[in-house]
Amino acid sequence: MCAVSYRELGLVNTVELFKKAVDGGYALPAYNFNNMEQLQAIIQACVETSSPVILQVSKGARDYANATLLRNMAKGAVEYAKELGNPIPVVLHLDHGGDFEICKECIDNGFSSVMIDGSHFSYEENIALTKKVVEYAHSRNDYVTVEGELGVLAGIEDDVVAEKSTYTQPEEVIDFVSKTGVDSLAISIGTSHGANKFKPEQCTLDENGILVPPPLRFDILEEIEKNLPGFPIVLHGSSSVPQDLVKVINSNGGNLKNAIGIPEEQLRRAAASAVCKINIDSDGRIAMTAAVRKVLSEKPGEFDPRKYLGPARDALKEIYKHKNENVLGSAGKA
Ligand SMILES: [Zn+2]
Repeated sequence: MCAVSYRELGLVNTVELFKKAVDGGYALPAYNFNNMEQLQAIIQACVETSSPVILQVSKGARDYANATLLRNMAKGAVEYAKELGNPIPVVLHLDHGGDFEICKECIDNGFSSVMIDGSHFSYEENIALTKKVVEYAHSRNDYVTVEGELGVLAGIEDDVVAEKSTYTQPEEVIDFVSKTGVDSLAISIGTSHGANKFKPEQCTLDENGILVPPPLRFDILEEIEKNLPGFPIVLHGSSSVPQDLVKVINSNGGNLKNAIGIPEEQLRRAAASAVCKINIDSDGRIAMTAAVRKVLSEKPGEFDPRKYLGPARDALKEIYKHKNENVLGSAGKA
């Protein structure tokens, strides 16, 4: 197969975007997409808030929607943003690449950025695997950027499962970054994948009886920043799990139990630091599911998918506009 460069698709890599984000004290949104409605919502939200965007494709998305289709949808998204009157920078990024082969396939097929997640291997194996992907990605005519990971996040996201988290060790980051040559690094400081980030017994109750999760480990983040000044840091698993939306789901036949996320003020604080990419997926899933459940329970006779996927798309757009404007600070930075 003939290689496709991301530049032909109108995409950009993360080099300039991360530099601006670190200097400007904000974080780029990294939103996952698996279908047309999600992609429409992401592009509309980012065009309307004038935010650059990282479109993420996971292995699960490739299995669900087909990699060729997703790549051409990303190309369409670039055109769509132009048509909407705001040609925002768009990155197409592989989320949680598990081995060299999937990273190579994406690099050869129009992705402008990939993540190689070697965090489940030993430290030495993680370095060797990450270095191999970096060497391949950086040797392309159009430099493809690479995100590595040090430390393990707890939780479940598509095929990525971990029982418990292991925090990133700040003393390892200089060695890891210099040996691998990665462009950015995902770290573990207390975020986790999925909608059940904490068990209720890990939380405290505030005066309104709402569960407050343990704070992120900003001491580790500060140590990492001190060791690698200005280096782009990434946070995964950074949904806040809005309780009003969980309530809509549960009062319309759903059963989301003990769903707890990361408070938005903590993410705001992280975004103002060297953290320049924040992955948010569960909040979007929750917003769409709440909208679909509401429509179908209020209008049991409805069977036109546009009548429930449309409101789901609109709900997703609203929550992502809110993230860009009020959490990440990426609004107006396109
Ligand atoms: Zn992740």
